[in-house]
Amino acid sequence: MLAAKYIPGEKKLSLKDVAIPEPGPKEVLLKVRAAGICHSDLHILSGEIPYTTSFTMGHEGCGEVVKTGSAVKEKFKDGVLYAVHGPNPCGECSYCKSGHDNLCNSPDRAYIGIGADGAYAEFMVVPARNIVEVPPGISPQVAAVATDAVLTPYHAIKTLGEVTHNTKVLLIGLGGLGMNGLQVALALEADVTVCDLRESSLESAKKLGAKKVFNSKFIEQELKPQSFDVVVDFVGRDSTFLQSQKFVRAGGTIVLVGLGSSQVPIVTASFATYQVKVQGSFWGTHKEMQEVYDLIADKKIKPQVQTAPLKEVNHWLEELEAGKIPGRMALIP
Ligand code: NAD
Ligand code: ZN
Repeated sequence: MLAAKYIPGEKKLSLKDVAIPEPGPKEVLLKVRAAGICHSDLHILSGEIPYTTSFTMGHEGCGEVVKTGSAVKEKFKDGVLYAVHGPNPCGECSYCKSGHDNLCNSPDRAYIGIGADGAYAEFMVVPARNIVEVPPGISPQVAAVATDAVLTPYHAIKTLGEVTHNTKVLLIGLGGLGMNGLQVALALEADVTVCDLRESSLESAKKLGAKKVFNSKFIEQELKPQSFDVVVDFVGRDSTFLQSQKFVRAGGTIVLVGLGSSQVPIVTASFATYQVKVQGSFWGTHKEMQEVYDLIADKKIKPQVQTAPLKEVNHWLEELEAGKIPGRMALIP
């Protein structure tokens, strides 16, 4: 089968012909139907997030179960889509048992497509416990990107930002994650303001129902300091994190999702004086993933996804790097 492999030190993925993997006793074999391309792939390929082993990339995957391991008791349905919960939790540790399975601390776990083999392949093997049935009517490309590009903003905005009816929220960065984050915040009936540097993103945001849309170049003039309950930074660079501190209200929360810089500055005086909270946010839980599919099935969130053949993966990674992908892109094996 075709698989796009990360090789430590190389800036592009290697397209290889490899054997179809065999599921272990508690695993299933998925025939991959779609795999989303995330900006985190670029951070890994550039060495900003270093990995020292080789693996098949692709952490936003879905497919059909075509084989189950000898110890798997669940019955999976033919022709039905199952989506992969990429954090790949063990189900046994204290984090998993208390519902925070995105933070699983099992020494054996590796994220699917980031350390362990992922979805940029024709087939993939996953622990049976870490797949979620996708409701009917959701396309493979939407099901795939929902595993991260919808799940991550959902966790950041709803669970950690505690955004609800009329919460004043500012979303910075309207790419794959942010554009779905906008839809999450609108579904929660928040008072939403969004910004990005790309005019094309701002136009798309308006089409999705955003009323307060600003180019990030001008927000210092356009927005009032300390005017948001919650700021979600989907970029995570120095400039956006400083803007987050400027625009969050006293006692408010900044949710940091983006991994744009390896470190971001904190302005100590205003930070301490205004008792601002910074909340880190990582991916999402198995339970939240089911909630996300319910929202998509109810058409409350409509992820915008373009598709391309898997073999073009390196081209589309370059396009993402160049800022030329509106929303999300999914690869079809
Ligand atoms: P993307 O490339 O699709 O989108 C990034 C967006 O940010 C683009 O629209 C771009 O124009 C905009 N942008 C860039 N610089 C900006 C600036 N200075 N001000 C305003 N907007 C700016 O990326 P993505 O796939 O949505 O990922 C976003 C970030 O989140 C990445 O760093 C990625 O690694 C990270 N991420 C984190 C998690 C997590 O669990 N914490 C999960 C997935 C992705
Ligand atoms: Zn991702």
